[in-house]
Amino acid sequence: QVKQAGGNGLSFFDITLQDQAYQRLTLAQELQQALNEEQFELFYQPQLVHPGVVLGAEVLLRWRHPERGLLSPDAFIRFAEETGLIVEMGEYVLFHACKQLAIWQQTPSTARLELSVNISAKQLKQANFSDKVLDIIKHTAIDASALKLELTESVLVEDFENIVSVMQILQAKGIRFSLDDFGTGYSSLVYLKRLPLYQLKVDRSFVADLLTDENDQAIAKMIILLGQTLGLEVMAEGVETVEQLKILYKLGCYHYQGYYFSKPLPLNEFEHYLVKASGGLI
Ligand code: C2E
Ligand code: MG
Ligand code: MG
Ligand code: MG
Repeated sequence: QVKQAGGNGLSFFDITLQDQAYQRLTLAQELQQALNEEQFELFYQPQLVHPGVVLGAEVLLRWRHPERGLLSPDAFIRFAEETGLIVEMGEYVLFHACKQLAIWQQTPSTARLELSVNISAKQLKQANFSDKVLDIIKHTAIDASALKLELTESVLVEDFENIVSVMQILQAKGIRFSLDDFGTGYSSLVYLKRLPLYQLKVDRSFVADLLTDENDQAIAKMIILLGQTLGLEVMAEGVETVEQLKILYKLGCYHYQGYYFSKPLPLNEFEHYLVKASGGLI
């Protein structure tokens, strides 16, 4: 029974807080265990260029939880960021992505595939981030130009000069950078100009209502134009219908990712998709 606040007993509020603290502790332990026991799995969502050539994939993390089944990042990424566990998780993802690239690069039919890997702000701000990335590249012996790192605008808020210099070091080794979820954060256009970027990703919230919302269409149009003006590749995420695809094409966006083409897939299904798609897609 819940007692009134004030006495020796716990108020309902205290219990809730305790409960939350307990849940967080459990999640932290579970995440650490998941890392140790390799319960994380890389999924691959195809990325294409008009008129249907598969360039590669974005790597999206999934957690095969022993009791709760396959979990999406919503269930654990934010928590991993808050606790700093994201640093180790991110390294795990990068290492396995590069290992996969190394395998593909040894076979002619997959040798030119590219992978995009999401990097959290916490990772990028680690003093040894560039060394870690370069170590992984050396260890897996990949051609680094096949690797793209996706950053969100949140990394640009502090330490701008440091971030730029880390990006420059990695860019000099052939690694490319993409600005993810563009338009949803608060980065200034002046900063954008100074970043060594290769690609802008139009956030899927602007793609979703492209057909019905004039404002979203105007924003998408502006982002595409901005990207072109700055000499960047523009990729639309969250493309779900052929109608959206047609509008994006009309607006000058030729790189796509979304359920219209494929959901994120486990490795073997992604490799099947490649075989199917090589027959022409759109
Ligand atoms: P994101 O990087 O913007 O990734 C795109 C998200 O949109 C993915 O969600 C993908 O499954 C989803 N998506 C793609 N196409 C469509 C579509 O047509 N319709 C809809 N409704 N959704 C689509 P997911 O896999 O749940 O990942 C969510 C976010 O979690 C990612 O957003 C990224 O910010 C983060 N994340 C995923 N993997 C990693 C990782 O390895 N490291 C870090 N730091 N973050 C990750
Ligand atoms: Mg991304
Ligand atoms: Mg995105
Ligand atoms: Mg997004």
